[in-house]
Amino acid sequence: MAEKFDCHYCRDPLQGKKYVQKDGHHCCLKCFDKFAKHCVKCNKAITSGGITYQDQPWHADCFVCVTCSKKLAGQRFTAVEDQYYCVDCYKNFVAKKCAGCKNPITGFGKGSSVVAYEGQSWHDYCFHCKKCSVNLANKRFVFHQEQVYCPDCAKKL
Ligand SMILES: [Zn+2]
Ligand SMILES: [Zn+2]
Ligand SMILES: [Zn+2]
Ligand SMILES: [Zn+2]
Ligand SMILES: [Zn+2]
Repeated sequence: MAEKFDCHYCRDPLQGKKYVQKDGHHCCLKCFDKFAKHCVKCNKAITSGGITYQDQPWHADCFVCVTCSKKLAGQRFTAVEDQYYCVDCYKNFVAKKCAGCKNPITGFGKGSSVVAYEGQSWHDYCFHCKKCSVNLANKRFVFHQEQVYCPDCAKKL
């Protein structure tokens, strides 16, 4: 017996309407909406290719970097207070940049120790005297015209 062209669940005719397949049956969008998982971002039913992150359903199209809108499914990304960033945006916009080497301070591995002063941050291994290059992390230093100097070099400025 051929299946009639109506919704398997509510029997609404589907002629000329949009519908989806659910468990091998035709299903109208209204019914599908009732069964479907709803994307935590846009609140719409996920018809296909949804992803799950931390037990929450998302459209693959909705799970994107907040900065550049690149899709994050299957990519490395970083979550910061419920915002998701691709690796590049995280490096460029979120992580603090070291005032010495201009590279991001990621907080992981080498360079997780940070020297912060006057709103600027340095990797501890980048915090050295502008003149003689002695490392000044946890030492006395002089901050002069946005540059760091050891007390000896500071005297000769
Ligand atoms: Zn239906
Ligand atoms: Zn969505
Ligand atoms: Zn991005
Ligand atoms: Zn650095
Ligand atoms: Zn010095």
